Amino acid sequence: MTAPPSDGESPPTGRTRLRRHPERGVYDQATVHAILDEGLVAHVGILSDQGPVVLPMAYARVASTLYLHGAAGNALLRAAEDAPVCATVTLLDGLVLARSAFHHSLNYRSVVVYGTGRRVGDEDEHRLALAAIVDHVAAGRSAEARPPSASELRSTRVLALDLAEASAKTRSGPPVDDEADATWPAWSGTIPLTLVRGTPVEA
Ligand SMILES: Cc1cc2nc3c(=O)[nH]c(=O)nc-3n(C[C@H](O)[C@H](O)[C@H](O)COP(=O)(O)OP(=O)(O)OC[C@H]3O[C@@H](n4cnc5c(N)ncnc54)[C@H](O)[C@@H]3O)c2cc1C
Repeated sequence: MTAPPSDGESPPTGRTRLRRHPERGVYDQATVHAILDEGLVAHVGILSDQGPVVLPMAYARVASTLYLHGAAGNALLRAAEDAPVCATVTLLDGLVLARSAFHHSLNYRSVVVYGTGRRVGDEDEHRLALAAIVDHVAAGRSAEARPPSASELRSTRVLALDLAEASAKTRSGPPVDDEADATWPAWSGTIPLTLVRGTPVEA
């Protein structure tokens, strides 16, 4: 069964339509955006001259654009310019321990985005993207921190990725054990996982 359509649904494309567990697929922008806004790390994949490369990166979402940044010479961001990019963000919500080894799983909310990298050259958008990335880590922080200097801007590359082609996949709830395993003497259930901010340590 496929998840029912909801407001703001973007129809899945040939490559974003979930084939495995399609009932876990969500394509509405609100869900995709909420997962991206809660996550902190994107795994960004490109096809380099030496084969596929996937690197973890900070990011921020502004409206329907995902911004990535790095050093001006960042190899992945350079290769991603005007080239196919796939970025994923995963929120891990729990460990799912079933009675059988086979049915062990994870509870999660994840997003996969496909697009073409666009290098941000415009200074206003460059500053906006960098501020958004700082604010994504700590809300309101860009207004407190010293803004980037002209030379810091020059030494930073920003890549934009449109969020038009994205899918979300979510799993929640208990393990799905086979009836035949109901009396197997192993504990079964979920262990929730959360990422929490600790007590700040002043520098
Ligand atoms: C934390 C975590 C751990 C996982 N561990 C495993 C594992 O060990 N083994 C395993 O087989 N699977 C695992 N999955 C699920 C995995 O991400 C795939 O969904 C699954 O493997 C199906 O792959 P497929 O190539 O058949 O996907 P298909 O259903 O053919 O994928 C088609 C399209 O659906 C979308 N899609 C697929 N998966 C996701 C996703 N997770 N999030 C958002 N969009 C998606 C993409 O746009 C993709 O191009 C895990 C997922 C998460 C979040």
